[in-house]
Amino acid sequence: MTAPNPANDWPSTEIMQAVAVEVGACVHPIMRRLIDTTTGEARLVPIPCGATWAGHCPPCAERHRKLRATQCREGWHLDEDPIRPADGDDQDNEHEDQEQDGESGDRRVRSTRRRDDLPDLPRLPVEARSLGQVYEGNQGRCYRPSMFVTITMPSYGRVHDDGTPADPDSYDYRRQVLDALHFGKLFDRLIQNLRRAVGYRVQYFAAVEPQKRLAPHVHMAIRGAIPRALLRRVIVATYANVWWPPFDEPVYTDPARLPVWDVDDEGIGRFLDPTTRTPLPSWADALAAVDADPTVAPAHTLRAGRQCDIKGLVAGGKADRAIGYLTKYLTKSIAEGITDDEPSARQRAHADRLAAEARWLPCSPQCANWLRYGITPKDPHGRMTPGYCDKRAHLSERCGYGGRRVLVSRHWTGKTLTEHSADRREAARVVLEAAGIELPDGCSATELREDGEPRWLYEPVNPGELNGDEYRQALAASVRQRVAWRDQYQRARDGTGPPDPASHSATVA
Ligand SMILES: [Zn+2]
Ligand SMILES: [Zn+2]
Repeated sequence: MTAPNPANDWPSTEIMQAVAVEVGACVHPIMRRLIDTTTGEARLVPIPCGATWAGHCPPCAERHRKLRATQCREGWHLDEDPIRPADGDDQDNEHEDQEQDGESGDRRVRSTRRRDDLPDLPRLPVEARSLGQVYEGNQGRCYRPSMFVTITMPSYGRVHDDGTPADPDSYDYRRQVLDALHFGKLFDRLIQNLRRAVGYRVQYFAAVEPQKRLAPHVHMAIRGAIPRALLRRVIVATYANVWWPPFDEPVYTDPARLPVWDVDDEGIGRFLDPTTRTPLPSWADALAAVDADPTVAPAHTLRAGRQCDIKGLVAGGKADRAIGYLTKYLTKSIAEGITDDEPSARQRAHADRLAAEARWLPCSPQCANWLRYGITPKDPHGRMTPGYCDKRAHLSERCGYGGRRVLVSRHWTGKTLTEHSADRREAARVVLEAAGIELPDGCSATELREDGEPRWLYEPVNPGELNGDEYRQALAASVRQRVAWRDQYQRARDGTGPPDPASHSATVA
């Protein structure tokens, strides 16, 4: 394996990376120095970078996508409920991985007048169960039908086939971006209403994708069958209000006359009007003013579009294709998902208009853009400048949507993504062991020496510490490891016996 290879014989980094993509090994492995403390021997080992974006590392992104597909498949037609009665009462707004930013931390109690109730929808107590109904077919076969649903946002103005507005001047860019900014809120509300309408904790695996007009839409796998008419009623009736201070009219637009940072006598930071030196209202004060005034309307109200697509599916053929569809774009950035072609000038102009809108609207209570509207953001600090908030909703490719690509409910499979990943490794191990192949020594961080101290130490390596040749060698090791593993696995699965030891080195040479 460690044939002495003069360093300057190694192919270029680009070639090594191309080979890595070809065999499915990480292209940008993170290096660790593995030290065997019993012998003092040290060697470099590559750890996969784990990127989810193919633009950074295609093999890691593809592995991630497959893992998501597994997660989606496993939860869709479950016949054993991951919810145990001990799991407690209904919890609304529960993505497996909640957004860190946004409003989740400060849910305020609203007066009943402003509760987003829906008088025309059924409202049942939500039971602690998540499986749909079972139907018995011929010869006692059981079916657990599930749903595939696509929900879109409303119209912001007529668009051409390429997604660009027929009349850009009357197109409602502001509303489209606001809807994208608060999309997660509408989605949560929809799930909440759906659970109340059906009386159990409906579970979902959802992928948020941009449409050609660059508005988000969501494809969801829903476990269990829900009557179409009821689902449609829930989608049409659901709305979400954003009770933020009004931000219709910018107050400070001149970059030379922006609010200035100041720390008061008690050491509390706030922003002041640059001319009068009057403090701007704090976030809490601005919210209290909204609460106190019964005439104030919500700063924004979201509704889904009337166009929605609802399909009932059973496990197998069509459901598998739907899983492919749900996970198809996960390795791409939001903007890449739309078209394989270069955007036309018209499409670029449309994207630019949206980006300009997204740059200046407030994305969250902590957004620096509140300064533009004369309000001190929540958790203020002196480096806040309107138009320069670093949250991802403002990134031009995001068109206002700052949330996650995949939204998975807590009890979809009852497992985390890490646990799904461990499952896959375990499944591979079982195949290999059944064929009598022992896995290569894992150098486990938990393995102990006779004296009880850890045998192996993993030390971080600074990228600058490695010269180009060492990096390429490590990349080659990553490729070799991958090829050996894949080869062993395929042979074990196909029952063709242990691999020919000569074949690995031949592949990478
Ligand atoms: Zn990688
Ligand atoms: Zn922001």
